[in-house]
Amino acid sequence: MTLADIAAAAGLRTPIRHQLFIDGRFVDAADGQTLATLNPHDNSVIADVAMAGREDVDRAVAAAERAFPVWARMAAADRGRILLKLADLIEANTEELARLETLDTGHPLKDSRALDVPRTAACYRYFGGMADKFQGDVVPVETGFLNYLLREPVGVVGQVVPWNFPLMFTAWKMAPALAAGNTVVLKPAEITPLSTLKIAELMMEAGMPPGVVNIVPGLGHVAGQYIAEHPRIAKVAFTGSTATGRRIVQASAGNLKKVQLELGGKGANIVFDDANLTAAVNGSAWAIFHNQVQACIAGSRLMLQESIADEFLERFATLARSIRLGNPMDSATEMGPLTSALHRDRVLSYVDVAREQGGELIAGGRAPVDEALSRGCYVEPTIVKAKSPQDRIAQEEVFGPFVTVLTFKDEAEAMAIANGTEYGLGSGLWTSHLQRAHRMAREMKAGMVWINSYKRVNPGSPFGGVGQSGYGREMGFDAMREYTQVKSVWVNVDAQIPPWYPR
Ligand code: NAD
Repeated sequence: MTLADIAAAAGLRTPIRHQLFIDGRFVDAADGQTLATLNPHDNSVIADVAMAGREDVDRAVAAAERAFPVWARMAAADRGRILLKLADLIEANTEELARLETLDTGHPLKDSRALDVPRTAACYRYFGGMADKFQGDVVPVETGFLNYLLREPVGVVGQVVPWNFPLMFTAWKMAPALAAGNTVVLKPAEITPLSTLKIAELMMEAGMPPGVVNIVPGLGHVAGQYIAEHPRIAKVAFTGSTATGRRIVQASAGNLKKVQLELGGKGANIVFDDANLTAAVNGSAWAIFHNQVQACIAGSRLMLQESIADEFLERFATLARSIRLGNPMDSATEMGPLTSALHRDRVLSYVDVAREQGGELIAGGRAPVDEALSRGCYVEPTIVKAKSPQDRIAQEEVFGPFVTVLTFKDEAEAMAIANGTEYGLGSGLWTSHLQRAHRMAREMKAGMVWINSYKRVNPGSPFGGVGQSGYGREMGFDAMREYTQVKSVWVNVDAQIPPWYPR
């Protein structure tokens, strides 16, 4: 099939972009290298995508450097207007973007339409509006002096994103960086570059000047590593695994660039016996199974108070078994394939790990037997009861349809288990006890806590982790602080300074 046939079969109206985006133009890699991106439903090739090498990253950095002075000095409202226009264009292209995201990632089309695209547009809109509202400050210093603080863009920013939410994470990174006046070199994950390249096309339509945004799909240890090392990149913002995050920090040391890390998680989702169980069963299923569990904030440790554990688990397992697995392009599908075969195999390997450590398999634990799904990267929703909170399945991030169940006696034990991993990203709890809810929220080692809910995100609310889940925050005013640096300017207005060395 030609690329046009593949696009038509996926219901796309416009061509699939498959080249690098540098200096406002779609171009091939300097050495002509490409890498196939696959459809996780059946592992067929969607497109051979240009693969950036070091020379391409250099070209992208040079373009971003040239664009920086004009973009940084442009009136903030004008930068904002371009982002607002982009948000409108994203909404106008919802179906096209949703289908492309589904084709490349395996997200159910229902999710891409209802969540990924609207959240992407909302993020660009929020930071478009923020551009001219984020301001400096005046410090009340000693008499005779005016001391004001400028919030200046950092410069050329490198951004490296993973494959689990390409549209959304690209927006979370680019929108605040651009609103603050930085220029960007962004590397999407090598297995999911397509929606990001489409956004580049929409950016041009929105009036983004050439060079402000550059997209360089490529391998992590080549293009990604070089972005982290690059001597003329002032900051690197990364979302991905904790192991890669460490490599980024090491690579960034050469020019002491600013680093922002959004890393892995092992979210505790705690259900107390005074919770509304119907809401907690449904909310816990959402917490874990949405997006095939490929979410850093997934509630992948389901912690149940002993007195309700059996009843809860029965209802939860019944719901999990009823989740409709299928071709993500089918609007009725509730769970699609994992994004790559490699990842599917890794997820399934944890079923063996669970067995070796005496875990009790309650649901799933295998690829579906359905012939229609046999060539894809599918895994059934899997529930395993761990023997101990120290088991590997209760400590390591699986990042696939796999939830580890743990039980606890009381609040103190719940807290100890919840805080007993190296991660600290998202956590949730279900209870009707007001004081306990806030007490737990205060004590939890986490960047985000949801009470009687889970996995809420909003462009205005800071997102990020502690411990091995990284540092820095995306979204909200915090994101603007991350993408700016403070300059303190002292002005002698009418200070009479006696000479320090009187002569
Ligand atoms: P990954 O670390 O393998 O890859 C992420 C990105 O880094 C990709 O673009 C990859 O090409 C690139 N990369 C790989 N090696 C690199 C290197 N040496 N130098 C620079 N870049 C390199 O992660 P993944 O498996 O693609 O993504 C899943 C992980 O991301 C999970 O651990 C998940 O928890 C985490 N994640 C975190 C958040 C968050 O906000 N905290 C959000 C989503 C995903």
